[in-house]
Amino acid sequence: MPAVTQKSALEFAPTGLYVDGRWRPATGGATFAVHDPATGRTLTEVADASVEDGRAALDAAVAAQADWAATDPRERSEILRRAFELLTGRAETFAMLMTLEMGKSLAESRGEVTYGAEFFRWFAEEAVRIHGRYAVAPSGGTRLVTMRQPVGPVMAITPWNFPLAMGTRKVGPALAAGCTVVLKPAGETPLTTLALARVLEEAGLPAGVLNVITTSRTAEVSEPIIRDPRLRKLTFTGSTGVGRTLVGQSADQLLRVSMELGGNAPFLVFEDADLERAVDGAMLAKMRNIGEACTAANRFIVHESVAEEFSARLAERMGALTVGKGTAKGAEVGPLITEAARGNVAELVEDAVTKGATVLTGGEVPTGKGWFYPPTVLADVPEGARVLREEIFGPVAPITTFTSEEEAIRLANSSEYGLVAYAFTEDGARTLRVSEALEFGMVGINQGVVSNPAAPFGGVKHSGFGREGGFEGIEEYLETKYVGIAP
Ligand code: NAD
Repeated sequence: MPAVTQKSALEFAPTGLYVDGRWRPATGGATFAVHDPATGRTLTEVADASVEDGRAALDAAVAAQADWAATDPRERSEILRRAFELLTGRAETFAMLMTLEMGKSLAESRGEVTYGAEFFRWFAEEAVRIHGRYAVAPSGGTRLVTMRQPVGPVMAITPWNFPLAMGTRKVGPALAAGCTVVLKPAGETPLTTLALARVLEEAGLPAGVLNVITTSRTAEVSEPIIRDPRLRKLTFTGSTGVGRTLVGQSADQLLRVSMELGGNAPFLVFEDADLERAVDGAMLAKMRNIGEACTAANRFIVHESVAEEFSARLAERMGALTVGKGTAKGAEVGPLITEAARGNVAELVEDAVTKGATVLTGGEVPTGKGWFYPPTVLADVPEGARVLREEIFGPVAPITTFTSEEEAIRLANSSEYGLVAYAFTEDGARTLRVSEALEFGMVGINQGVVSNPAAPFGGVKHSGFGREGGFEGIEEYLETKYVGIAP
């Protein structure tokens, strides 16, 4: 295969809507621009779906639902497996597309292709393991039989930060379960999703089973779909604010809903931690995806006896990272997604500094093109600083200290978010105590990444509900029907 270039990657991604197995322009031919955050230049234009286009996508999903649900599990599985192979074979194209539209380095984008494709392999394997059960009622007589059936047409809305994986994490289990899908990617990063639909089409997915609508009028186009009684499930990944609005819209039809929302991950370093491991973990938990991850460590809570050493080592490692355009050789830290996103990160840092935090590295907005922000470490961050309460979504590590395990837990839990927490300790009993006490959907012990297609990903509190990946992931797309049979 010839080397992948920016041009060849862009050519691979369709720019139309994918509705009922056909690629077509939006009604009236409307389009919107997709930008490269490293330069601000327009990469291409994609179809700008209208309300009618959205309805057409739902019509197609509804029409395809019965046949897809009746398709042999093995066939659904094989399609997903083929899509996994095709995606993996096209890894460089997908990596280039993500780097172009989202900004992260090619190395990080390649990592996302591996992670994202894996959801198709995992759920290809799950498609053939959907089981009901059989029992004799305790009082005898009735036989209790349960069957698992697809919930029906699904609306999936995804964010820009992991353009591939957030899609495959929803589409994989939905298709495996026998559900049809209307997928709406983020307006900032539609190309990866369009390319994904192309791959599924090549893998033999029947018309109407997956429909993709790109739009700049998200709220206007998605609300009628969510309120349509034919839709049976909404799965959303994005900010807590938008999630709350969508839960409200779902209430009328009492939709099944999954919400993967924002985070404010604490990163606890106990006095008995292996500091080398803790710094390695911190680099991953903070810098993966330029800090633009719901799982990003947002608050470093470090025992006072090791805080100085940990902070110095982290600042040294963060300060040594190479900032640059994601496609540039050796670049490790790409630009943030938009000017507004960078402005927000800069504001959080200023607020912390004004309130008394010390900048150990970074902290200055660079001049020049692109929405770059340098890796930044802040020490002595006071409890009132916004950076400890709000999702940073950038390469900034604020550090605070604690003196006892109880205090560490209290600080960690003092957030309305509850997605993931990280803790570094070499003490087995503490590992168990801390894991039990943390009010989070996921806990990483001595590791800075928890995401794994074979594990249940999801949060509690304002980080949402529902799980993606693992054995649990497919449950979100299945109903349980109980049949009582008189023998
Ligand atoms: P966002 O909420 O602005 O957008 C997410 C998606 O919702 C996009 O497709 C967007 O177009 C759409 N959207 C926006 N307003 C809408 C509306 N009124 N009606 C319907 N759809 C609407 O979030 P974002 O900036 O794209 O992503 C960043 C957020 O996502 C962060 O808060 C991050 O923590 C969260 N996130 C969570 C997870 C998780 O699994 N918990 C994973 C990745 C990102």
